[in-house]
Amino acid sequence: MKEQTILILGGGIGGVVAANRLRKTLGRQHRVVLVDREPTFALAASFLWVMTGDRRPDQIARPLARLERKGIEVVLGEVERIDSASREAVVDGRTLQADHLIVALGAQFAPEAVPGLATGGLTFCTLDGATRLRDALHVMRAGRIIVLTAAPAYKCPAAPYEAAMLIDGFLRRRGVRSAVKIALHSAEPGPMGVAGPEASAAVRAMVEDKGIAYHPEHQIARVEAGRAHFTDGAALDADLLVYVPPIRPPTVLAASGLVDETGWVQVDRNNLETRFPGVYAVGDATLIPLAMGKPLPRAGVFAHRQAEVVARNIARVIAGKTPVERFDGHGACFIETGSGLAGFGAGDFYAEPRPAVRMRRPGRLWHAGKVLFEKQVMWQWL
Ligand SMILES: Cc1cc2nc3c(=O)[nH]c(=O)nc-3n(C[C@H](O)[C@H](O)[C@H](O)COP(=O)(O)OP(=O)(O)OC[C@H]3O[C@@H](n4cnc5c(N)ncnc54)[C@H](O)[C@@H]3O)c2cc1C
Repeated sequence: MKEQTILILGGGIGGVVAANRLRKTLGRQHRVVLVDREPTFALAASFLWVMTGDRRPDQIARPLARLERKGIEVVLGEVERIDSASREAVVDGRTLQADHLIVALGAQFAPEAVPGLATGGLTFCTLDGATRLRDALHVMRAGRIIVLTAAPAYKCPAAPYEAAMLIDGFLRRRGVRSAVKIALHSAEPGPMGVAGPEASAAVRAMVEDKGIAYHPEHQIARVEAGRAHFTDGAALDADLLVYVPPIRPPTVLAASGLVDETGWVQVDRNNLETRFPGVYAVGDATLIPLAMGKPLPRAGVFAHRQAEVVARNIARVIAGKTPVERFDGHGACFIETGSGLAGFGAGDFYAEPRPAVRMRRPGRLWHAGKVLFEKQVMWQWL
């Protein structure tokens, strides 16, 4: 086949995995081009360790430009427009053309959806936020911490529960835990609901066993002068408010023709193809409905596995073969519980009538597994 250009929009987990896989698989006559507005890749799964001071930001972030050593072309700029029919994207006013287009633009944080949230609280969901939270936690000796999810659906269903437990562990290490109350208010009815009632109950028990008060289905309405106001009229004071922001689809997708009324990209759940030939989407930017009525959770493990499937299928098409790779809905995640321990949940999220997920009790092995995963990502992909 003549020289092909694969254009990857987004240099987060999905984009970086796809670029690496394609570059390893394809001959050098083919171009792999990756676009992102940010010059640096940062591993979100390690932000919680930045929050607790167990990682420095530079240990979990790398310039995307490093990918150029592997023969991946990196374009830094804003994706301003996507023309799916012609497989073109406009980046900072320049049109880039593709034979195969992969959309991996993730989900955008939208803290502004809750008045006062961004100014009244801190989030561990960005590298900058996690660093600021670390500084705030280091000077905390007594008081009240509220951890909250500002919407029922967000990136990484385990993260707020891990955050509360890691904050607990951090304060214990510093000997001030007994002087600090921690409460977790979630907009959703329970932890990791998509993973099923057993997994949800297991995570809830892990949180409550640490003396963290858990308040499900408690939706934040606004934050004013250090006070969190909830939709049921409750108003709570917090010395430190830690939040998971709501998310929304990247703005540029709206006019791409790839989305439905939800604003998220619609794909074939098995091969991640959109309705446009040669255009694929992976990761948080997609919405994949499950039989149980909720979508596939937004997690890096899925972005990763989907990117592998798409990259391998594109390579097969270029080689004149049938694209047979399938994403089977399997995924796993480590759940950090503090003090060097982690639980582990794994299963088939495409299982019907609902995902079949098994939760393993916290242990040192799972924590070691997450550390190993982090090292592998940073060395293998970047
Ligand atoms: C605190 C935290 C902890 C997490 N822990 C885990 C975990 O332990 N396990 C797990 O599986 N998942 C975890 N996740 C979720 C995981 O990080 C995401 O699901 C994953 O990053 C999604 O990958 P993606 O490639 O779809 O999007 P992203 O990684 O978000 O990448 C999208 C990229 O697109 C770029 N972009 C967007 N719009 C534009 C534009 N218009 N122009 C140019 N560039 C653009 C962005 O800059 C970004 O780099 C965690 C998330 C958070 C916030």
